[in-house]
Amino acid sequence: MTARAGLAPYPSPEERDARLGALAAAGGGECLTIGTTHRGRPIRVARIPSTGAPRRGAGPPDRVLVCAGIHGLEYIGCVSALALLERLAAADGPLARLRERAEVWVIASLNPDGYARAWEIEGEGPLDDLRTNARGVDLNRNYPLPAPQRPVTFNLGGWRTGSAVPGNAFYRGAHPLSEPETAALAALHAEQRFAASANLHSTWGTLIPPLTPASAHQRAYRHLCRVFAASQSVARYKRLAWSSLDRFIGEQEDYQHHVLDAWALCIEHYPVWRELARHQDERVFWRFNPRAPERWIANDVPGIVAFLNAALDLGRPSRHAPNVLPPRL
Ligand SMILES: [Zn+2]
Repeated sequence: MTARAGLAPYPSPEERDARLGALAAAGGGECLTIGTTHRGRPIRVARIPSTGAPRRGAGPPDRVLVCAGIHGLEYIGCVSALALLERLAAADGPLARLRERAEVWVIASLNPDGYARAWEIEGEGPLDDLRTNARGVDLNRNYPLPAPQRPVTFNLGGWRTGSAVPGNAFYRGAHPLSEPETAALAALHAEQRFAASANLHSTWGTLIPPLTPASAHQRAYRHLCRVFAASQSVARYKRLAWSSLDRFIGEQEDYQHHVLDAWALCIEHYPVWRELARHQDERVFWRFNPRAPERWIANDVPGIVAFLNAALDLGRPSRHAPNVLPPRL
């Protein structure tokens, strides 16, 4: 069996990048390289310009980000990001509204080395090989912690998430932004000051907002998650928030909310329990990605668009409450 057949209907790394470029052009935008991985692969982003008229004296339009593929094997996020880009080109309804008010930036794979590794080994192997970047770092544990939080390792059902030990599937790296992928995303944020970010993962069928003790922010995220779920037609994802299951462990959405003042949501596509029986004996890859992604793309892309529109309606998080944290949550 060839690798191509092994992970079909998902795109190869080359097909993914070709589609990103073609869809950026179809949307009247461009494709930019924002960094280079340890293995020399470009990290690419599509920029789709706003269709709105320039606002006199109001500066450039808002910008929003859709960021997929921080974990190498979570291809469903990548194809959802590409599908959103495809629909933007022929925008109507909520997509037209989004384009009118904001530039939309789409990263289909923030971890192209991890994506290529999953492709090469046909999604078979331990999670450590499929989730991390080429240096074995869990990129979603490699972001700066909001002050004054200190690094912790959190034991979640036997998984030592945010581990300081190399070789763990949840290894946080030598220091925050030690990896070219996370450093590239931080630099892009500094340049573009995104107002909101949808971070695409799999496989729990949930929406995970940043950890925050501010009741105004908790209220806002409850609203954003409700708006997301109300746009879903097959399965409405539940919000998973502010519980004993969460800590500050260097995740992207906590960094974006607390440090960068952007609304951020971790979207876990595709509730695997819906097809669990089918996947019990399958490769790890098929526990993270549905065999037929179209149904989940149709379910989730409207939710992403609804979230981004609703986030733009709110203004920045700092308009609602200051982000002041106690020493340890
Ligand atoms: Zn993930």
